[in-house]
Amino acid sequence: MTKTPLLVANWKMHGNKLRVAQFAQQVSPHIPSQIEAVFCPPYPYLHIPPKGPLKLGAQDCATTQEGAYTGEVSASMLRDIGCEYVILGHSERRQHFEEHESMIATKAVAALQVGLVPIICIGESEREREEGLTVKVLERQLSTLLPLADGLVIAYEPIWAIGTGKTPTLNQIEEAHGFIHAQLAKTARDSAPHVLYGGSVKPTNIREILALKAVDGALIGGASLEADAFVTMLRATAEAKGL
Ligand code: PEP
Repeated sequence: MTKTPLLVANWKMHGNKLRVAQFAQQVSPHIPSQIEAVFCPPYPYLHIPPKGPLKLGAQDCATTQEGAYTGEVSASMLRDIGCEYVILGHSERRQHFEEHESMIATKAVAALQVGLVPIICIGESEREREEGLTVKVLERQLSTLLPLADGLVIAYEPIWAIGTGKTPTLNQIEEAHGFIHAQLAKTARDSAPHVLYGGSVKPTNIREILALKAVDGALIGGASLEADAFVTMLRATAEAKGL
């Protein structure tokens, strides 16, 4: 069965009320029916996009559903306001907030408990790639996630490609995705989980990346901030997948 391609707009800590509303308004009418588009604005703006074809996602969640954790937002709260997805373990959170494998897996369990789909980011640093450690790093990052494989989306995001304009070669993407799919297949019982690519995806390179069979969609940062560019990437995805 062909998977529905998934395109995720990760706005990180960008935007404001008006820009979030305009993005939702401008993108929604142009989402091809065979593609799932997910918008992840910062927490304070999650209530703005109207319910519709543009799905809503958060950029993180807490490890528990409720309690004395000042500043945290739980998966159940996100579900309560209409989120369907949550990005977890983004390299920026691993780097700046010291998130580690077991914490990310705990957050994924909390998300799955309430029916949120975790989009979990994994990927190697430039030094790790140069030292030939890519597969080892992916294996380590996936190890705590494999028991949850059925409910997850994995985003392969080489850290050195995020926000830099650099992208791996198509062969490198194919190799990493092939490895991730094979690892997930060890434990996934139902359908094969989606594996997205992320890292400097833009209108000019998305078609060739999404044409790779092992790539089920994209997680897009910078280039998702403009509605026009995101719509172009939705169309390119549909073409690349022959939809
Ligand atoms: C990201 O935010 O996960 C990302 C891939 O960013 P960018 O597309 O800007 O590289």
